[in-house]
Amino acid sequence: MSSLRQDPLTGRWVIIAAKRQGRPNDFRRPGRAEEDLCLRAAPQADCPFCPGQEHQTPPEVMATGRHQGGEANSPGWQVRVFPNKFPAMQAQPMLLDDPDQTADPLLRPQGDAIGGHEVLVCCPGHQESLASLTVDHLAQVLFGVRERVRILGQEHTNARYVLVFGNHGPEAGATLAHSHLQIITTPVVPILVVDQMANFIRHDEVAGSCLLCDTLESEESAKVRLVSCNPGWVAVAPWASRFAYEMKLIPRRHAASMLEATDSELHHLADLLKVCLNRLLGCSPNVDFNLVFHNAPVASTAGSGYGNEKLDALMDASGPARELFHWHLEILPRLSRLAGFETGTGFAINSLPPEEAAARLRPEGI
Ligand SMILES: [Zn+2]
Ligand SMILES: [Zn+2]
Repeated sequence: MSSLRQDPLTGRWVIIAAKRQGRPNDFRRPGRAEEDLCLRAAPQADCPFCPGQEHQTPPEVMATGRHQGGEANSPGWQVRVFPNKFPAMQAQPMLLDDPDQTADPLLRPQGDAIGGHEVLVCCPGHQESLASLTVDHLAQVLFGVRERVRILGQEHTNARYVLVFGNHGPEAGATLAHSHLQIITTPVVPILVVDQMANFIRHDEVAGSCLLCDTLESEESAKVRLVSCNPGWVAVAPWASRFAYEMKLIPRRHAASMLEATDSELHHLADLLKVCLNRLLGCSPNVDFNLVFHNAPVASTAGSGYGNEKLDALMDASGPARELFHWHLEILPRLSRLAGFETGTGFAINSLPPEEAAARLRPEGI
């Protein structure tokens, strides 16, 4: 029987179509085009992210692991960060077309796409993945992410949001196989973040508590959607999962952004991330996925405009509203492609109920 579920955090609707559910094998990733296989098996010599190819990337802005005296932009690193060679956001303003040339005010440019766009290469090994790295190495990756989020948010005075995400595999949008994350600042607070912020505020007004803190409590009590947990974090298959084997990783301690996370909390996150990714790969070998960090908007409101008025009005009305945000991560496996219904409605259809996904993903005895 199908059911309609609404994600209390984003407001998005999902159809859980259990009747469409097939055998476990039906959730294997779809067949690949030949070029996809080439991407996955890209030889190390052609990879700009491999040690020894540092000259192929813009100069690094951060690297860990080199011995003292090791030269920048040379091998020996463990985690390496540099500006994206093909950025979605430009560091400098570009000349816009004269807006007066466009008669329709709705079609005028809202401003330059100015911001930072960096690549964080997670490890020197070309064949490694986030799931295969040690917990200590994954923690180093997360420390690097936290540092670059902090610096990019400060350097780009127009930044209203800093997005961190990873595309693993071609179905998830990766164009290079070597494991990496991307960090982008935008002068626009994404609609999705505005919606989440609004729901945190609304829940606080109605219940006097945090939506995700409450979710943590109820999911730990119900257990049916619980995937794994440790002293710092809980992973659940969300009630309104859009994708088969979708997971949400939530820190136990309420904090608006990963900037507030302690080293110990990030170490616990590294531990949980490794567990969750390996469980996912155990259920669906070679699955492609996106990893998305959800943080509160940047504290500064310097970059107003760009349609941020809705969020600014919300924040103004609610005092320290930003602190109501509860940061978290999502693992979004890409086992099916968006079809007409999804693009036409914004709804997702998920044929693997999260309760069933969690049962497959969780270890015995949790
Ligand atoms: Zn490589
Ligand atoms: Zn909370």
